[in-house]
Amino acid sequence: MASRGDEPLARAMDRARRPPSVDTLARSIKDVGLPHPLLVEAARAAIGAGDPGSARDRALRTASELLRPVVNATGVMLHTNLGRAPIGVQQEAGYTNLELDLSTGRRGSRHNHAATLLAAACGAEAALVVNNGAAAVMLVLAALAAGRAVAVSRGELVEIGGGFRIPDVLAGSGAELVEVGTTNRTRVSDYRAVLSGELGDELALILKVHQSNYKVVGFTESVPVSVLARLGPPVVFDIGSGLLDAGTPWLSEGPPAWLQGEPAARQALEQGAALVTFSGDKLLGGPQAGVIAGQSDLVAQCAAHPLSRALRPGRLVLGALQETALAYLRRDGDAIPFWRMATASLADLRRRAEALGAGEVVECRSVPGGGSIPGLEIPSIGVALRGDVTEHLRRAPVPVIARVSGHRTIIDLRTVSPADDGLVALAIEAATESTAP
Ligand SMILES: *Cc1c(COP(=O)(O)O)cnc(C)c1O
Repeated sequence: MASRGDEPLARAMDRARRPPSVDTLARSIKDVGLPHPLLVEAARAAIGAGDPGSARDRALRTASELLRPVVNATGVMLHTNLGRAPIGVQQEAGYTNLELDLSTGRRGSRHNHAATLLAAACGAEAALVVNNGAAAVMLVLAALAAGRAVAVSRGELVEIGGGFRIPDVLAGSGAELVEVGTTNRTRVSDYRAVLSGELGDELALILKVHQSNYKVVGFTESVPVSVLARLGPPVVFDIGSGLLDAGTPWLSEGPPAWLQGEPAARQALEQGAALVTFSGDKLLGGPQAGVIAGQSDLVAQCAAHPLSRALRPGRLVLGALQETALAYLRRDGDAIPFWRMATASLADLRRRAEALGAGEVVECRSVPGGGSIPGLEIPSIGVALRGDVTEHLRRAPVPVIARVSGHRTIIDLRTVSPADDGLVALAIEAATESTAP
């Protein structure tokens, strides 16, 4: 009799000791809002680790790894970890006339909209858009110099972030690197020596690479494009940042002082570069893309190379880049978020900092970032909070990314869109409440 009555109790006790089923656990954390298979994965990992209670945190961690908007309060305008240049483009993802000529009804080219506009904006005969700056350099070398030689100054054999090294890119494209001059000084006579040497006839290009992310100071010398252009082979100038015109006609106040020395596409072409290559998401202020601009025959050769098909961007990127290019052609720098933040006045930033009503209003320094213009700082205004509250700020509904300086957390308002000031205020309030003694 006793044994019959004890049986369900024993089973119930056994159940309590056993971990919950993966499926039950996954259902119990449904409110995290992830698709069921991802919740199951979190539940399985939690049970596997002998800690079913951790399932929710594991699922939340997965959710936090999804792409989402954040507020950049770091003061680094082109922050690679935050997607470089912000773009203010909203677009439908429906059908477009990507490769359809609407006037004839025949097949068109995806190089006809954004690329043509960018060419117009920098005074190039033609342009081609690929996925990023690295792809642009790679395609130019593969299309114009495979099996031949390319002369590069030893001072320009650079590594750009993410393992993009000019010597490796050259090797990968099938071109042979001919090193010219020395690390700190390269003269025109060094190039002439190469041209009259045994590889002179093999030389397909002279490649000039902007030392975007570092500076050589002191006893240095390099050869300007205008001089290289007179040597014979076409000069390709990888300017990197995508400054379209040194005169910045899209800014009513003219070029900011900090742009001094940054190579620009229009001027490089005027000085005789056959092609320039640059990124879409650095100083250009557009989406991630790479642009090849210059002589139409050379651009056509790049477009005809099989790699061009592999490196072509999609319509979302081309749509965003078209918007950016149109803003340049309208000379409307205010429509380009990067230029809007780069030229925001200290008075405006101070007014916004004061309106936040939290922390201490402080002077700080923004930087261009994205490997552009190293060592350059732009005066800015922000608010300082006591201690390191960066983690709390990152946990806000829209994460706010700030930096720590001394024993304070600095929120630099130059890189924050004014439309996001309310989000910053909320995040500060939550962060300071949770750290209040
Ligand atoms: C940034 C940069 C690149 C690489 O461009 P991505 O768009 O990052 O691929 C290449 N060359 C120079 C000089 C650069 O500054």
